[in-house]
Amino acid sequence: MKKITIAIDGHSSTGKSTAAKELAKALNYIYVDTGAMYRAVTYFALQNNFFENEILDEKALIPALETIDLDFKYDPAEARSKVLLNGDDVESFIRQMDVSNKVSYVAKVPEVRKKLVKIQQRIGEKGGLVMDGRDIGSVVFPQAELKIFMTATSHERAKRRYEEIKGQNTDLNFEEVLANVKQRDSIDSSRKTSPLLQTEDAVKIDNTDLSREEQSELLLHLAQKRIAIVNSPQ
Ligand code: C5P
Repeated sequence: MKKITIAIDGHSSTGKSTAAKELAKALNYIYVDTGAMYRAVTYFALQNNFFENEILDEKALIPALETIDLDFKYDPAEARSKVLLNGDDVESFIRQMDVSNKVSYVAKVPEVRKKLVKIQQRIGEKGGLVMDGRDIGSVVFPQAELKIFMTATSHERAKRRYEEIKGQNTDLNFEEVLANVKQRDSIDSSRKTSPLLQTEDAVKIDNTDLSREEQSELLLHLAQKRIAIVNSPQ
């Protein structure tokens, strides 16, 4: 049975990663969280003081990209892949607000995108994967057999994100999370290189009023339908 490529794009905090991970598990496919890769490069930029306030020193970051090695390691205990930055597990750092507040600036840099897209295409060259991000259906795998575009209201997305991270950050307030969600939407959608957009052939899912289970069922149904079509005799 031919395995397909599934691209899941959409706005920040739409639950893309959770949905993509569950779908990959149900299909026995590989799951790749490309946001984690942009976050890891942002963590690297922060560690190397390439930001002065909100301003990214692109001239310092671009040559330093050569020294960045990104990889994923599957952690069976937690049943998920963790991103490795030069061999170090940086998962616990890359979801913090300092990284969330800066990541869209790093993701705007064409040289960063070029490097990460190349790695993503290599990981997915054999198919049989679910990859989530912003430009998967438009740039990384424009030939993906199934493309999903996920969205929800910014208020609902901020509420979910707040619930997810408030335990790790006691200073966090909801307004700050909402502002970050809106800011990332705006930068991600308006950047010159690979802006976030819904391709014509993508299925749009607005999950504002969908439960996690309803969404998972819908995604699995769409994927199984697509897999059957791809494998049906011509
Ligand atoms: O998916 P997540 O919210 O973790 O992504 C973090 C940020 O990384 C996004 O806001 C976006 O700026 C960037 N990103 C991107 N292209 C991707 C994945 C993420 O520009 N394929």
